[in-house]
Amino acid sequence: MTERPTPAGSQGGHAYLDAARGRRKGSVGGRHVTIIGSGIVGLSTAAALLRAGMQVRVIDAGPAPGSGASGGNGCQLSYAYVAPLAAPGLLPEIPRLLMDPASPLSLKLRPDKHQWQWMLRFLAACRYSLARRSTLDLIALAALSRAETELWAASCDPEELGFKRSGKLVLHADAAGLQAARAQMQMQAAVGPAQHELTEAQCLRVEPALDAFRGKIAGAIHTPSECVVDGLALCRNLHRALSSRGVSFHYGVSAEHFVHRKGRVLAVATRGETLDVDELVLANGTGCASLARKLGIYLPVYPLKGYSITAKVRDARGAPRVSVTDARRKVVYARIGERVRVAGVAEIGAHHTGLDARRIEQLVAYANESFGSAIDLEEPQPWAGLRPATPSSVPVIGRTAYSNTHLNVGHGALGLTLAFGSARLLADMLAGLAPALDPSVYALGSR
Ligand SMILES: Cc1cc2nc3c(=O)[nH]c(=O)nc-3n(C[C@H](O)[C@H](O)[C@H](O)COP(=O)(O)OP(=O)(O)OC[C@H]3O[C@@H](n4cnc5c(N)ncnc54)[C@H](O)[C@@H]3O)c2cc1C
Repeated sequence: MTERPTPAGSQGGHAYLDAARGRRKGSVGGRHVTIIGSGIVGLSTAAALLRAGMQVRVIDAGPAPGSGASGGNGCQLSYAYVAPLAAPGLLPEIPRLLMDPASPLSLKLRPDKHQWQWMLRFLAACRYSLARRSTLDLIALAALSRAETELWAASCDPEELGFKRSGKLVLHADAAGLQAARAQMQMQAAVGPAQHELTEAQCLRVEPALDAFRGKIAGAIHTPSECVVDGLALCRNLHRALSSRGVSFHYGVSAEHFVHRKGRVLAVATRGETLDVDELVLANGTGCASLARKLGIYLPVYPLKGYSITAKVRDARGAPRVSVTDARRKVVYARIGERVRVAGVAEIGAHHTGLDARRIEQLVAYANESFGSAIDLEEPQPWAGLRPATPSSVPVIGRTAYSNTHLNVGHGALGLTLAFGSARLLADMLAGLAPALDPSVYALGSR
């Protein structure tokens, strides 16, 4: 019998928090930071700031860690698949996507200036030069994030997190889609992780559970180094580890307004009380745009609603072990222990997380067609969440015009992937350390 390696955390140490404590000793001790948002971005920011020697408080309007978009997402740590949604190839597809009722992309126009501004910027971001620049900026952030996420995971029980280097296959049903993917792969080749183009037969060897796709795959891109993690388990794990090291968490506390004077935010007004702040970080997902407006800050972050179902594995041989993206349907499948998470859909103009039965039935039908009885689809767990998306898909990280107020928002479809890298970048800036990446690229107003 082979023994599993013992995670560092179970021996009392914490690879992530301990490694850095030595490195940054004494740099910023005593500074107190309040973070608004306890999703994966707020929590990883709390970890990075604690590691930099700061005192941290986190407030969240929700009932528990990960109760926003971070809790039920697609589970993919997609370090290579960072191509922004706004891309030249999307433009000719938009009419078809919007007309087809089964389309994964839908648009509900609203009499909302913010929506129109966002969409115009989204269309502008589809230009080749901008999409290319966004891809490269996202890849750099993803590489930093991989290193930081893996350092955190090294202190945990991988099974508890559902953390695994599963690899990822993106399946293309037609030659045009494959050609575009090949071009993207070539563009990323010098800077991103290794990727390979596979034939259908090669795909089926990498993931035999794809038998139902036989005869339907024009080709696929395989990235062996991609990982999966259960977003909710990771949020709970961060919350537990940080609570035990002195980070204070306050749930059911909604930030409503600010008290500010002479370019500094002095306090956050919640429904019940006013909390004095020293340093402040907005990491509150899709809530950030309306909250920042209270400070006169325009944030180009808009919700893109998505859905997921989670189903138990019935037959381990027939359920995917490798992460799979069905590019035509824009649906992702991730194996998390003995469950499969199926996620997809982007609705522009939906502002609440209510479940639309048609969307859930669609995901169930796709999962059934793809993996049949290997997954228990009798009572799948349905979920909906709002991706906090910028037009370019590049998050906004860094300073505001208020000297003590900072942003870590707009991670769109890649928040789980990018959270730890964004947190490191912001923590370096707050601690006055040389940042690991050029921060101007992610600054508010940089694109
Ligand atoms: C269907 C779907 C699939 C996805 N799949 C993936 C994937 O496979 N890989 C990946 O990397 N990413 C994926 N994502 C994206 C990812 O889930 C998000 O980018 C990420 O969760 C955003 O994290 P966040 O912490 O910024 O926001 P959230 O997790 O939404 O957290 C924000 C928190 O702020 C709180 N809040 C908001 N306003 C206030 C306020 N005024 N006061 C106090 N608290 C407030 C909310 O209660 C919430 O808890 C997916 C998203 C969806 C919807």
